[in-house]
Amino acid sequence: MQNPSIFQERITAVRQKLSEWEVDGLLITSATNRRWLSGFTGSNGQLLITANQALIATDFRYYTQAGHEAPDFTLFKHQRTPADTQNFLAESGAKTVGLEAKHVTIAELIELEEVSGVTWKPLLATLELLRVLKTAVEIQTIQKACAITDEVMALVPQIARVGLTEGEVAWELEKALRQAGAEAPAFDIIVASGPNSALPHHHPGSRRLQAGDALVVDMGAQVDGYKSDMTRSFYLGKKASVHYFELYHLVLRAQTAVFQNAKPGMSLKAVDSLARDILARAGHAEHFGHGLGHGLGLDIHEDPFFSQRAEETDTLEVGMVVTIEPGCYLPDQCGIRLEETALMTENGLVPLTHCPKQPNIPKQRHAS
Ligand code: ZN
Ligand code: ZN
Repeated sequence: MQNPSIFQERITAVRQKLSEWEVDGLLITSATNRRWLSGFTGSNGQLLITANQALIATDFRYYTQAGHEAPDFTLFKHQRTPADTQNFLAESGAKTVGLEAKHVTIAELIELEEVSGVTWKPLLATLELLRVLKTAVEIQTIQKACAITDEVMALVPQIARVGLTEGEVAWELEKALRQAGAEAPAFDIIVASGPNSALPHHHPGSRRLQAGDALVVDMGAQVDGYKSDMTRSFYLGKKASVHYFELYHLVLRAQTAVFQNAKPGMSLKAVDSLARDILARAGHAEHFGHGLGHGLGLDIHEDPFFSQRAEETDTLEVGMVVTIEPGCYLPDQCGIRLEETALMTENGLVPLTHCPKQPNIPKQRHAS
């Protein structure tokens, strides 16, 4: 007998959760959950899982594609009418159906409530709970995305020239990611220069790079839908200020402490503290206002999330892929962030991104 596909295994895992969720069916509409469970990459589609059925409803554009990509699912040809939704639900026979509360819009809910014979149960987390532990194939794919990001991040000292705008640098990096094999950037690349580097999620704009600037570059590649995420911080010019290097090494020390001390089973809050305590002891508690990192996979930000607000019972486990990204941001002055994508193993956290950390970009020829 043929081994069950990864998608059959995932369908089984979902079925095992139905009684815990107190539903007899689960409707999946979000793009990444849909892809993870079925393999289907189209932009429109609903999955319905019950104890004995796995259905996919999609529209005309995707009938053929859904057949190829999601052979473990029975195709329901949808024309996007309310009657179709009614028939689709009726076909499953499910009476109490779980919904992805974080993904269904109010407009969609109003439409679903028109369906007779079904009671909807919003669930805050469904497949997210299963997606946190990555398979070997998922890890290999993320590693490919990380290798591309390493390659392109290493080009920053050549690309980031004084006189170019942040937007121009971001575009050069985006082209380089695609040339290196990324199907897309994992997210909008962040290039933050000078005082903008103190804005953790700065959108690259028209500011021109100047000698003496701090520079933060945060980017990732996407391969087969899977993302990588890495940040490096730089200083443009021969002489970085003593203050900058002090902060840089503080952030580096905070990141290193996490790699040295994170253990499987540790609470997400405790992992966050490994870095946060070092920054706080140096007087920078208020300059590190975001969580230490996040899970990533088909989504750039997915469970687990390291934070002081995490539940004590939420832990870092073997097989999770996460980012470790401490930062220190001095408003209107400069910011530093160092970020790796990493895999939790039985022997501790292993970085999957490896680009060397060389913050100084020596003085260079002005871009013409
Ligand atoms: Zn990032
Ligand atoms: Zn990140």
